[in-house]
Amino acid sequence: MSINTQVEPGTRSEKIAVTGLKKSFGNNEVLKGLDAVVHEGEVVAVIGPSGSGKSTFLRCLNKLEEISGGHVNVNGFDLTDPKVDINQVRRQIGMVFQHFNLFPHMSVIENIMLAPVETGKLSKEEARATGLKLLARVGLEAKADARPVSLSGGQKQRVAIARALAMNPDIMLFDEATSALDPEMVGEVLQVIKDLAAEGMTMVMVTHEMGFAREVADRVIFMADGYICEEGAPEQLFGDPQQQRTKDFLSKVL
Ligand code: ADP
Ligand code: MG
Repeated sequence: MSINTQVEPGTRSEKIAVTGLKKSFGNNEVLKGLDAVVHEGEVVAVIGPSGSGKSTFLRCLNKLEEISGGHVNVNGFDLTDPKVDINQVRRQIGMVFQHFNLFPHMSVIENIMLAPVETGKLSKEEARATGLKLLARVGLEAKADARPVSLSGGQKQRVAIARALAMNPDIMLFDEATSALDPEMVGEVLQVIKDLAAEGMTMVMVTHEMGFAREVADRVIFMADGYICEEGAPEQLFGDPQQQRTKDFLSKVL
C-alpha cells in the first residue's frame, strides 16, 4: 500500500478553533457557548443584530477580551493556557476596527512602521521598504509622508489595513471596517479586503455589508443572543435560511 502524502481538501489546517466559548461582563453573559472553526485560507463573515456579541467574539480571538469559559485555539496556541505568550500569538493576527485608530502625530508610513520596528521584527529601513510596498498595494504610495488628518475615511482605513499587514500576519480580523465610512468610500476598502481574500488570507470579518459577505465569504456565521444561531455557505444562509431568527434578521437587512 502506498503512503498518500497529499493533503486531502477536507483536511486543510485549522487556523482558529473555538469550543464552548463563553464571555461575561459582570452578570451579562454575552457569549453563551460558541463553537467555530476557521480553516487556512477561509473567509468567514460574521453577521447578526447589534449587541449580539459579534465584536466580543472577534476580540476573544486575539484575547483583547478575557475569555470566561471554553477554549480558543489560534495557530495551535490555546489562548486560555496561561503559559501561552499572547503577544506572540497577536503578532500573527492583524486586526482592523471600525475607527481606524491611526496615531495622528505620526505620518502614514510611521504608523505602518511602528509595530514591526517596536517588536524588533524589522529594522527601520526594512520596515519603511515593506511599508511602501504595502501602501502601493492599497493604492496609497503617494501618501506615505502625509498625516492621517489629511486623508479621507476610506484612505485612513486602507492605511489601517496596510498597518495590520506590516506584521505579516497570517490571519486578519475585521470588525465592521466600513461602517464608519461615507458610502462612496466603502467600495475602495471592500476592494482591498477582496484582494486579500483572493490572495488566500485567512479572514474573519464582522460586517453589515450583506452583498459583500455573500460575494466574498466562503462561510457566513449568523450570531444572535450570544449564540451562533446558524452558519453555512453564503448562498445557503442568505438564500435558504433554516432558522426563524435568521429569516427575521435577513428580512430586515436585505
Ligand atoms: P455587537 O458587536 O454584535 O454589536 P458587542 O460584542 O459589541 O455586540 O456587545 C455585546 C454585548 O456585550 C452588549 O450588550 C454590550 O453592551 C456588551 N459589552 C461589550 N463590551 C463590553 C464591555 N467592555 N463591558 C461591558 N459590556 C460590554
Ligand atoms: Mg460590534
